[in-house]
Formats: sequence, structure tokens, C-alpha cells
Amino acid sequence: MPLIPEEIIAEVRQATDIVAVIGQHLPLRKAGANYRTLCPFHQEKTPSFNVNPQKQIWHCFGCGKGGNVFTFITEYEKVSFGEAVRSLAKKAGIRIPELPGEKPEGHDLLYQANEFAARFFQSSLEGSAGAAAREYLETRGISQETTELFRLGYAPNSWDELIKAAERAGLSQALLLEAGLIVTRERGSGHYDRFRHRVMFPFFSLGGRVIGFGGRSLEQSPQAKYLNSPETAIYHKGRGFFGFAQTKTAIMDAGAAVLVEGNFDLLRPFQEGYKNIVATAGTALTPDQARLLSRYARTAVVCYDPDGPGLAAAERSLEPLLEAGLDPRVALLPEGLDPDGVIQNNGAAAFGEVVTQAVSFVEFRVMRARKARDMSLPAEKSQLVNGLIGLAALVADPVRRSLYYKEIADTAGLEESLVADLARKRQGMRPREGDPAPAAPAQRPLDQWEREILGLLIRRPNLVARLAEKPQLTDFLSPQFRKVAAKIDAMYQETSKVDEPGLFHAADSPEEQGLVSAAISLGRVSEDSLEGAEGDERKFADYLQNLERQTVKPRLKALQTAIREAQRGKDLPRERELLEQFNQLIKETGK
Ligand SMILES: [Zn+2]
Repeated sequence: MPLIPEEIIAEVRQATDIVAVIGQHLPLRKAGANYRTLCPFHQEKTPSFNVNPQKQIWHCFGCGKGGNVFTFITEYEKVSFGEAVRSLAKKAGIRIPELPGEKPEGHDLLYQANEFAARFFQSSLEGSAGAAAREYLETRGISQETTELFRLGYAPNSWDELIKAAERAGLSQALLLEAGLIVTRERGSGHYDRFRHRVMFPFFSLGGRVIGFGGRSLEQSPQAKYLNSPETAIYHKGRGFFGFAQTKTAIMDAGAAVLVEGNFDLLRPFQEGYKNIVATAGTALTPDQARLLSRYARTAVVCYDPDGPGLAAAERSLEPLLEAGLDPRVALLPEGLDPDGVIQNNGAAAFGEVVTQAVSFVEFRVMRARKARDMSLPAEKSQLVNGLIGLAALVADPVRRSLYYKEIADTAGLEESLVADLARKRQGMRPREGDPAPAAPAQRPLDQWEREILGLLIRRPNLVARLAEKPQLTDFLSPQFRKVAAKIDAMYQETSKVDEPGLFHAADSPEEQGLVSAAISLGRVSEDSLEGAEGDERKFADYLQNLERQTVKPRLKALQTAIREAQRGKDLPRERELLEQFNQLIKETGK
């Protein structure tokens, strides 16, 4: 069997929901932001097997096993990694290319039909029939380079040019119909081209294959200005974004994505260098889209039209974004201008300013409420505050959640304790379900310390430097701990943040993967992080101290005994060597 290409593995992972997959084998119960059940890999009476839907990982706190959806299938079904990917790919309708020269199967024909259509539309744009479309793109300020990169095209003003071209290429009408490229005639027999006299925008899979189209009409007064492909086996409305295949790398690099509505709202800024941008292309933002985005970015800047429908859509996008763990901000465009318009009228730099000055979701909601209602009325204010708390409560990360509560209190001019009270009432006075019991400061197995410390380091990677000051201490810890800590440090040095999925996938061994997944789970669910950075630093210092007590002290004691023995045996070189070690240890651990 040939190696499965990395991009296909990524595509399968993206298309698969770990909760759905594990849920087919085990009865999962919701526990806070996670799911929980009895571990299938060791005997237990209380469930310690956790599934984290946000990070798409699982971990058992009982036996220490953990991993991603592929690891689960390999462990549970006792199959190889390749077999796990293949079986999940099949369920997701993603075809894995096998040996060269093989017969196409599955959805490959659908991809072929879409690829054929994309090329047909591209060459139509370049040909004589494409003059009007070229002129239109020019007036919209779209360059040749952008046209080629996004593979824009033109669907000719004809009922059957695509059908005829496909026929010459040996593609059947049945296939074109399945691909949503043609439509069955209501009267008479046969089919006609779905897209006519339109500028064509292909939609791509994450792996870069054409899966469908959006078409902008060039008619004077069209029935539908924009027309998209219908749902097919490979194109699902509301799952992806227009432009994402071309912009996802820039989004990952920036850790942030600008969210726009229309295709041109994406193309113009992209062309001006604002490359971390995606377009919902005619649909309201869906939870699927938000989750997809959350794997690439932490911040989403919603940049919709500054009119009634645009602002309402921006408001509706907050919930899926917050729920997916993104920090949503809202860019306020000058009245009457969409992103494309801002660049046309005010220049590219003006667009950049609008994006940097985006307001928090709290500010945005308050501004909207002030415009629509009389906020001096207690009932109105109470409704607004409760709505905001409801949104903030969607956030799984306790640190961010508490920061939002603080902002809500500040903005609404309320005591922070009151907002915290309201939030607690909402959560039913109990700590969130799924949180572990507070850690006891007793003797613990070393691997448990390792998980706790790594969990903190993932959240506060700046603390890795402190760990480096104590090489004697880390010597006591496992090689996989040192590896993960080094990777966190490298990531932090390079990008000033820690990419959790990236860290997970960079693991070299199952032990390392297990450690990372445990650390990520611990780092996320711990309520202690409510105390913020200072609390974390205190906790980190505590951990190190406890670890020292547990590792360095016994070692010092052992050295002392050995030194005394060497003295008794008059073994001077040995005594010197041991003393040296003893002093070194004391120096480095500050004892
Ligand atoms: Zn277990």
C-alpha cells in the first residue's frame, strides 16, 4: 500500500468528528465541554475516559492512553494507522489515491467533473466569449494574478456549451447532473447548463480540489445575482469557505482570520496583501465553519456589510464563533461601504485600519443595544447583561470566560462580583461538570507532575524559561517530558504562542502523544486558571517546589550518605566527586 499523502490525512481528520466516531463504539456522556465514558482500555468503575470535541482528542486519566481519532481506531479496532485513515476516509467520502494508473472509483468522477468544468470556465474566460466577464473583473479591480490563483472563470451565455464540451471529453450527462453542473429540463427531455453568463468562482476542498462553484450573473437585472452549486456528495453548503484553500496558511500564520461575506470582499483585500481572510459566500456562518476556522485561528474578525442585514449577521456569528473557542471581534466599516468598497474608495491601508480597530463582541453588542433601545431602563440593561453573560458562558476556556465577565462588568458599569454572581447562578452554583477535583499537594507519581506542569506550560509558554534554569530537576523527568517542553519552547520562540493541535501532531511516540493530550486536557479544564497569569505563575512555582521535594531531596540525602561512606572508606577521589555533585545540585535548586 502506498503512503497516504499528508494533505489527505489532514483532510480526513478535518472531515471527521471524534465524538461521532467514538460515540459509535462507546456510550459518551456530556461532562462540561467534554464527553466522558468508561475506558475501553483498562478496567474501571468510574469513567475517566475523556473526549475533547474542541481539540478533537481523547485521553484516559486512568491508564494514561490518549490520542486523536486515528489513534483511537488503531487502539480500539487493533488496526494499523493506514487502515484507520482509510476506514475513516471512506466514511467521510474522501478518496485516497492508490497506485498510479488505477481505476477511478468512489467520488473521484465527481472531482473529475468539477475539475473539467473549472478548466472549461477558465478557458471560456480567456476566449472571445469571455470579453464581458474580463471587463467586469477589471472594473471590480481583480488582477490577472488573482484570477489565476483563485481559478476564476466564465460560464458562457448558452444552454448547452458545457454539456457539449463534456460530451467531447467523454463525460456523461448523468455525471454532470450528479455534480450539480447541469439541470434536468422541466418540459421535454434532456438537460441544460446550470451556470450561464456568469463569472465563476470555484470552491475547493482543503486539499485543493474543485468541489463546486458560485456564479455571479452578468445580466442587467438577473433573477439571482449569485448562484451556487447544489449539495452534492462532495460539496456541502456551510461546511467550508470561499477562498479557504488559498488563504488557510496565511490564517494559520497570523492566528487570526478576517471573515467577510462576499467573494469580492475577499479577493480585493487578498490582492492588497490581507491574505488571512475567508468568505462565507452567501450563507450565515455555521457551527461547522466556525469549528473549521478554530483549527487554524484563535481570533476571528467579523467584517460584514455595515447595513441592517450585515450587522444582524455579524451578531448571529458570535455564538458559533465563541462556542468554537474563537475570540470574535467585529470590524466596523464606514457607513455604506463593504470591504471591497473601502479599498476602492479609501485605499488598502484604510481596510487594514478597520480590521485592527475591530471591537470586542461585548462592545459590539453594547453599541447595537444602545442604538436600538433605551439603556437607562433597568429592564433593558438587565436583558443586555444577561445576553452577554449567556454568550460568554459558551466559552470553554475558564481564563477567557472570566476575562469576558470582567469586560462585561466594566462596560455595563457593574460591579465585577455582580456579573460573576449572575454567571455562577447561570451555571447552577456548582463548578462546571467535567472539571477534575482540586489537586492535593501530596506525593504524586512523577508522570502526574509532568502532565500538570506541561498543561501549565501550554497555557503559559513563557514559563518554559524558568524550567530551563533547573536542569537538575528536569533530569529527573521523563525523556518525553523534556521533548514536549522543548517543542513548546521552540513554538513559543518562533510564533509567540503554542499551537495545541500542532504540538500534538508533532509527537514522536505514542507515549509523547499520551502526555500531550493529557496536558492539553488538564490545561483547559482546570478552574484554577481563573486566577489568571499570576495564579498560574504561583502554581508553577508550587509545582516545581513539590517536584524538588519529591526528587531532589531524596537525591541529596542519598549523596550525603554516599559521601559519609566515602569518608569512612578514605576514598578521597570518590568523596570529591560526590561533593561536587552535591554542591552542583544545591546550587541549581537553590537549596
Ligand atoms: Zn484507561
